[in-house]
Amino acid sequence: MPARLDDNPAAVVVGSGPAGLTAAIALAEGGVSTVLVGRRPARPDHRTTALLASSVTALETLGVWRSCAAQAAPLEIMRVVDDTGRLWRAPEVKFAADEIGLDVFGYNIENRHLIAALDQHARVLPKLRLIDDDAVSVASNADDVAVSLTSGGVLRASLVIGADGRKSICRDAAGIAMQERSYPQVALTICLRHSRPHRDTSTEFHTASGPFTLVPLPENRSSLVWVLDPAEADELAELDDAALAAKIERASHSILGKIELEPGRGRFPLHVATARRFADNRIAVVGEAAHIIPPIGAQGLNLGLRDAATIGELAVAAHRNGHDIGGADLLARYNKMRRTDIGTRTLAVDLFNRTLLSDFLPVQGMRGLGLYMIDRIGPLRRAVMREGVAPAAAQPRLMRGEAL
Ligand SMILES: Cc1cc2nc3c(=O)[nH]c(=O)nc-3n(C[C@H](O)[C@H](O)[C@H](O)COP(=O)(O)OP(=O)(O)OC[C@H]3O[C@@H](n4cnc5c(N)ncnc54)[C@H](O)[C@@H]3O)c2cc1C
Repeated sequence: MPARLDDNPAAVVVGSGPAGLTAAIALAEGGVSTVLVGRRPARPDHRTTALLASSVTALETLGVWRSCAAQAAPLEIMRVVDDTGRLWRAPEVKFAADEIGLDVFGYNIENRHLIAALDQHARVLPKLRLIDDDAVSVASNADDVAVSLTSGGVLRASLVIGADGRKSICRDAAGIAMQERSYPQVALTICLRHSRPHRDTSTEFHTASGPFTLVPLPENRSSLVWVLDPAEADELAELDDAALAAKIERASHSILGKIELEPGRGRFPLHVATARRFADNRIAVVGEAAHIIPPIGAQGLNLGLRDAATIGELAVAAHRNGHDIGGADLLARYNKMRRTDIGTRTLAVDLFNRTLLSDFLPVQGMRGLGLYMIDRIGPLRRAVMREGVAPAAAQPRLMRGEAL
């Protein structure tokens, strides 16, 4: 039966992943009547997200973090270890949060807990209606945007936020092209139990096929993101738990002692992609509908949450002032406000990943030199840390702890 759509909202968010849920909550908390169209995940997402401090502040400000805190592990130290075995090897670099006056860089949480906390909060907001359905088409005109649902209903709104992931139909409807490239890499993800404590330290081993990253979870647990070439990833995926645990223990140089695997393995082919614009024709895109980057340095969803916070801030302010929340001026501002943050981070992660894959000696030397300088030059290291946690170019109000 078609969903009851008698009251058209001011905004529709398409996609109930973490970016869409955050955008919908930000709008509704700010008094904008909003509908979120999306289904609950059919399969669990076996990933974790390292949320940087400013993202945690935003979730605190939205009243979501209190349901996440018990499931999240603090990140106090980040180690980067060159495990390429190449001639030009970088020194180990250790970043400590207290060097920049923070208790922690952020927190790591399993995606299923983060999404559950967002979903639970979304369900109690009076200005937010959740429709458990998919959008089949999106069409904008000068006055509004129509979102048609698989159940047959149609929603009309002044603004549509496309949080519908990589194959976004909202992005297509806005007429926005994507610039994209695939890497010859796959990320395997899994959560682990281990015999030694992680001491709130994440460790990123850089190997010639990509990073092997262990990130703390509560108790003696960690999540692993292991980036490999696809054939190697397929071989590992064939292994039973005991054999894979032994491989992981070897690759981690036993820093966490004996490893035991938790149920649920993930496999993610790696891409880099950026939308040419982030908004047009009454449609703004957020999260992976706007940008995809490889899982290096925990940037992807942190960027997505800043997208959600920024469009939320602009739309709430326009709504309060009686302006059109999907107007061309507002969308142009959104586009401008997100460009530098998304562009610089995508470029940095892409370049870094390519230096790992490169067999060209001078390129390897450059990466080693870069890390050497970061290790040796205190002010540079602190600047890198500050930029990683709280980017100078983009600190929307929610990331500063200010309610909308
Ligand atoms: C291995 C790995 C590790 C990562 N680790 C980190 C990390 O530590 N820190 C970090 O910041 N980022 C990390 N990322 C990135 C992060 O996972 C992504 O940025 C994030 O999941 C994207 O969220 P999203 O809401 O934009 O998209 P998605 O989670 O893909 O959500 C999109 C939603 O839209 C729905 N949808 C699609 N089409 C429609 C439609 N037509 N109608 C309705 N709904 C629709 C989908 O079903 C889905 O629910 C990692 C990524 C990978 C691959």
